[in-house]
Amino acid sequence: MKIAIVGASGAVGQEFLRVLDERNFPIDELVLFGSARSAGTKYNFRGKDIEVKLLQHNDDFKGTDIAFTSAGAGTSKEFAETITRYGAIMIDNSSAFRMEENIPLVVPEVNPQDALNRPKGIIANPNCTTIQMVVALNAIEKLSHIRRVHVSTYQAASGAGAAAMEELYTQCRQILNGEKPTVEKFAYQLAFNLIPQVDVFTDNGYTKEEMKMYHETRKIMHSDIQVSATCVRVPSLRAHSESIWLETEQPVTVSEARRAFENTDGIILQDEPATKEYPMPLFISGKDPVYVGRIRKDLTNENGLAFWVVSDQIKKGAALNAVQIAEYLLTQPGQFHK
Ligand code: NAP
Repeated sequence: MKIAIVGASGAVGQEFLRVLDERNFPIDELVLFGSARSAGTKYNFRGKDIEVKLLQHNDDFKGTDIAFTSAGAGTSKEFAETITRYGAIMIDNSSAFRMEENIPLVVPEVNPQDALNRPKGIIANPNCTTIQMVVALNAIEKLSHIRRVHVSTYQAASGAGAAAMEELYTQCRQILNGEKPTVEKFAYQLAFNLIPQVDVFTDNGYTKEEMKMYHETRKIMHSDIQVSATCVRVPSLRAHSESIWLETEQPVTVSEARRAFENTDGIILQDEPATKEYPMPLFISGKDPVYVGRIRKDLTNENGLAFWVVSDQIKKGAALNAVQIAEYLLTQPGQFHK
């Protein structure tokens, strides 16, 4: 397999290098791309130094089987034709194509087969907050159709990229040294604070991030499910947390929900109130699964359940999900052009 990573220097790009190696993904040749900022930088992969190439409109993607792209929506839109022209499958982490009709939006635990129908040669990786939520929702959907979800997210700094994570470190250091914190990546100081805004506001008062959770969940689950989200940036470094409330058509008991989560691939149940066991971002950073805890019956609605979900958004919310899509394609006949 000839594999390309576009945006190799970024938070997600670096995670691709780790995940591909960790999972022994079959690679004969790996090509890394970036902008002029990182072109020429070398990254080690399986003992070999690989130099980042400048992403350009040329024939560099000839012979490439899969291109994992994580360089922002603008770059994905601008370079999609260049990347896919010779048959490379582009698995894109940006928001550029997620809601396009003829581009599948895939979470392997939920709708892997959608990846097989990709007329444009592009498969979109969903938004990180949506990925971890649908893995959990899908387990309950199998018990009874979910009508609606209310969710509040607690999103780590690294969700906004490598520089944003660095800004949180810097702000903490500056504040503890009695200095004025530098604020560049977020609208406000994030250290010792919460910011109830992720992405820009839309006309209905929800942010774009919140509307992604509404639309993407429906597309992935092929469902009329309604999702009302409040997305909040919190001063944790890595792994997003979500407080989820859902309403099903038929009542689902806590023990049925526990069993469903326990028996679902990709989910770890961590729910022992007596011994204070529940998922927390600090301990889940760098891990593959989606962790579920704090499961309880909603006090106000016979058909309601509440629970808490944590997952590493750079891993399962980005690089790992994309690599799992590629692994799924490898199990299917006739997917690659060579
Ligand atoms: P990041 O740390 O800021 O990295 C951005 C990457 O994009 C860098 O490697 C940068 O390369 C590259 N890039 C920017 N402009 C480029 C251009 N014109 N040509 C080639 N490469 C270019 O951001 P990130 O967090 O990794 O996010 C990357 C993408 O993944 C975004 O679309 C983001 O929405 C999505 N995503 C991120 C997360 C997350 O948790 N961070 C989760 C899911 C999805 P240079 O260094 O060379 O400029």
